[in-house]
Amino acid sequence: MAPLSGAADQADFMNGLGRGRDQDCVIEEQVRTDRLHQLFRQSFAAILGSYLAAVMLCWLCWDRFDHQVILVWLVVLTGSSLLRVKMFVEWFRCPNAERTPDRWERRYWITLVISAGIWGLGALAVMPTDDRLSQVLVMLFTVGMSVAAVSCYSAYRYMTLASMGLVLLPCTLWLLFQPSPMQVGVAIAVLVFSTFVVSATRKLSDALEKAFRLTRQMERAHNISTRAAQTDELTGLMNRRAFFEHAQVLYEQCRHNRQPLCALMMDMDHFKQINDTYGHQAGDQVLRQIGGVISASFRQADVYGRLGGEEFAVLLPNTSLETARTIAEQLVKAISGLVSEPVHGLSASLGVASTDAQDQDLHGLMNTADKALYRAKAQGRNQVAVAE
Ligand code: GH3
Ligand code: MG
Ligand code: MG
Repeated sequence: MAPLSGAADQADFMNGLGRGRDQDCVIEEQVRTDRLHQLFRQSFAAILGSYLAAVMLCWLCWDRFDHQVILVWLVVLTGSSLLRVKMFVEWFRCPNAERTPDRWERRYWITLVISAGIWGLGALAVMPTDDRLSQVLVMLFTVGMSVAAVSCYSAYRYMTLASMGLVLLPCTLWLLFQPSPMQVGVAIAVLVFSTFVVSATRKLSDALEKAFRLTRQMERAHNISTRAAQTDELTGLMNRRAFFEHAQVLYEQCRHNRQPLCALMMDMDHFKQINDTYGHQAGDQVLRQIGGVISASFRQADVYGRLGGEEFAVLLPNTSLETARTIAEQLVKAISGLVSEPVHGLSASLGVASTDAQDQDLHGLMNTADKALYRAKAQGRNQVAVAE
């Protein structure tokens, strides 16, 4: 059973700072995805909101606007709103793994530009040239719409700015070139207020991005430290504490499902001699290789780890005692064929026990396997002994 929660985290742990740049890329991609999710979460209400705003404006100024222009504007706006609703429905139906920025950002951007453009141009088209009250009302609605854009699209600054510009600029620029000082004054006021909103969008989107990045960095640091606390540094296997934690869970699962569970206890033979003859570093190299043999030999469902020194343990769920013995014998064979220059003639002894034999707790099972291991040692080492 791999103690890691993700492949990326495993790479981090094994390679430390050497993969710093890769880590940064992964985090940047996660932040991009978080921003996209935030955008979809935040902006669903915008579709209905912008449509209702247009309907309300037309209703308020029904007697003042050209009815034909109103009709065309609302029909085109209905079309663009339906396009956005369709995109949202597809987003919600889409599996999470496929909600990627590469797939959705462009699509979102296109529908946003179309609908904001229609809103802004439509507002300009309905605005009567000779009715100041209507003009002020239209400006009020366009300003309201662009402020709403800040709350809906803040995860993407360029989308917020595009939406604001497309909604606000057509009417504002038109007013700016009108003969009356009042109209020009309103346009200038709107442009001045907009600069404050534009600067707020930068602060908002920076703050959001920072929050997403910090959350992802903390998540990663937590995964790495959890893994470090569970892993034996020398072999990369689970350490004693993690082994017993995972073993307890597996033991209870097997008991609940009435499945047999076998335990293997392994101890290297004459390991002290290896250290004394070839040095501690050569001994460490052997232990690393043993870790590699063990992790290559067992299934994802098995739990294995280094209990300490040159002792290892394995739990095999849903495995008969006979199969466990065969597996243990294969392991003994694999270790006796191992060469870790300059060390030759490696061997290990194994004890095997099963929950089939008697009803016992996890520690009882491990003790039984341990007793069998001592029998294997006593019988001459480099062999497997099965608990009676
Ligand atoms: P036996 O066949 O009876 O098991 O003999 P042994 O020498 O292996 O005896 P034992 O299992 O009691 O000895 C364990 C030795 O393993 C003692 C220590 O020198 C060595 N050892 C324990 N941990 C490490 C380690 O992390 N690295 C190295 N190189 N050696 C270790
Ligand atoms: Mg030992
Ligand atoms: Mg030993």
